[in-house]
Amino acid sequence: MVVEGSTTIFLASPIVIGKRKGVMKTIAAISTAPAVGGIGVIRISGDDAIAVAARVFRAVSTKKALCEMQGYTAAFGYVQNAAGQTLDECVALVFKAPHSFTGEDVVELSCHGGLFLLKKVLEAVYAAGAVPAEAGEFTKRAFLNKKIDLTEAEAVASIIAAQSDASAAAAMSAKEGALFQKISQINASLIALSAHLAAWTDYPDDDIEAIDTAHLKNVILQAKQESRELLETFEVSKIVAEGVETAILGRTNVGKSSLMNLICGEQKSIVTEIEGTTRDVVETSVRCGNVVLKLSDTAGLRQSEDKIEQIGIALSKKKAASAGLIFAVFDTSKPLSQEDFALLEAIKNKRAILIMNKIDLSAVWESSALAGFGKRIVAVSAKQAEGYEALVQAVEEELGTKDFNPYAPLLATARQKNCLATALSCMEEALEAIEAGLTLDAVNVSIDAAVSAFLELTGERATEKITDEIFKHFCVGK
Ligand code: GDP
Repeated sequence: MVVEGSTTIFLASPIVIGKRKGVMKTIAAISTAPAVGGIGVIRISGDDAIAVAARVFRAVSTKKALCEMQGYTAAFGYVQNAAGQTLDECVALVFKAPHSFTGEDVVELSCHGGLFLLKKVLEAVYAAGAVPAEAGEFTKRAFLNKKIDLTEAEAVASIIAAQSDASAAAAMSAKEGALFQKISQINASLIALSAHLAAWTDYPDDDIEAIDTAHLKNVILQAKQESRELLETFEVSKIVAEGVETAILGRTNVGKSSLMNLICGEQKSIVTEIEGTTRDVVETSVRCGNVVLKLSDTAGLRQSEDKIEQIGIALSKKKAASAGLIFAVFDTSKPLSQEDFALLEAIKNKRAILIMNKIDLSAVWESSALAGFGKRIVAVSAKQAEGYEALVQAVEEELGTKDFNPYAPLLATARQKNCLATALSCMEEALEAIEAGLTLDAVNVSIDAAVSAFLELTGERATEKITDEIFKHFCVGK
C-alpha cells in the first residue's frame, strides 16, 4: 500500500498485495471439521474454481452450467469422479470474484458429512485440476486480495476458538474491523504529521508552514495515550479469549471437590468425608460468568505418608505455581489450622480468591480472620449450592472482566501487542527527541518507525515471513 504524502516508510520485503493474483493455483480442501457430521463442505478457490467444480458436478436442479450461474446462487446435483462414477449428492454454491471470502472465484460443494466420501470427492476435485490448500490458505488469500486486514484474519481464528458469548462477540467485532479502524485512526494522525515534517524538511525553499512544537507534541501524546489504553486491553481480552488456569487449593476435607462440582453444575470430583480422596488432579473447563475457567481440583494439602497422595500433593503445588487464578478454600466449621496459614502465605503474591466454605454449619471463625490477607473473600456452602453468584462476581472483578466490552477495539494476539508496544516506544523516542531539541527530521525517524509498527500490525506493511507465520497456525480448509 502506498501511504499518501509519506516518502519515508520502508520495511524489508513487504508483501505486494494482489501481486500473485492470476498466477495463484486453484486450491481445494475440506472446510468443515475433520469429523463425521450432517454436512461436509469442500471449498474450491482460484481462477479455475468454477471450471474445476464443473468437471465433478452434474446439476439436476438447473440446466445452467456452473459458469453461467450468478454469484451467491446454488444448484443441487451429483458429484462424480473422472470415471463418471457418482460419489454423492451435493449442493454447489457459486461465488464470483471479488464477492467471495477469498476475493477469488469460489465454489463450495456441500456433500453428506461422512469423512470417507468427502475424501473421495476431494480426490476427484484434485483430479479435476485443483491443488491441496495449505493451512490457512483461504484466509491468507482473503488477506492478499485485500478482503480483510491481518487483524481481521487473526479474528477468524479467534471466532473458531471462541468458547463464550463474550469471546465470540469480541472476535466478531474484530472481524468486522473494530481494531483495524482504531489503529488506522491513531496512525492517520502520525502519518499526516510525518508527511508534513518530511515536506517541510525536504523542501526548505517551498512555502510550507512550519510545525509548531506544541502541536507536534500534542499529536504524539494523543496517539500515545490512545495506544496505551489499547495496550491495556490485552490482558483482559486474552483472559476472555483463552480462559484462565484455575487451581482449587486447600487442606483435605474443606470442600474443594464439592466446590468444583458446584461450579461445574455436575459431579466431576468424588466427594467423601474420607480425607485424601482426591489424590490426582481432576481437570475440567467450565464457563463462570463471562470467562472460561480451566479448573483443577487438587489433592488436599497435608502431611501424608501415603506415596500416591504425596505425588498428588506435589502435583497440587505445581498446579498452584502455574495457575492464573487460585480458589483457596477454608472450612468455617473448623478452626483455621497451620496448613490454612501455610496456604495463605504460599499464595500471597498470586491472584487468588479466598473461599469460606460450609457456611450452612455453625461457624467457628468470621471473615475478619482472613481480612488481613488483602484478597477477595467469598462465603459459600458448596454442599447446599449457596453463594455461586457471589463467586462469579468475585471472579469477574478479580480478573477485570466485569465491565468487559467485546465491541470495543481490543488487542487479541501477542503479535498485535508487540507491534503496538514497538509503536509506543517509538512515540516515546520521538517525544524525547523533541525535548532534547533534536532536528525535526531526527524526530520524524521515530514517528516513521511508529507508523511502520502500526502498518505491520494491520498487515499493510507486514513481511511475508510474518504473514506466513500467522497463517501456518490456521487449520487446513480455513
Ligand atoms: P475436599 O477434600 O476438600 O475435596 O472436600 P470434599 O468436597 O470431598 O468434602 C469433604 C466433606 O465435606 C464431604 O463430606 C462433603 O459433603 C462436606 N462438605 C463439602 N462442602 C460442604 C458444605 O458447604 N457444607 C457442609 N455441611 N458440608 C460440606
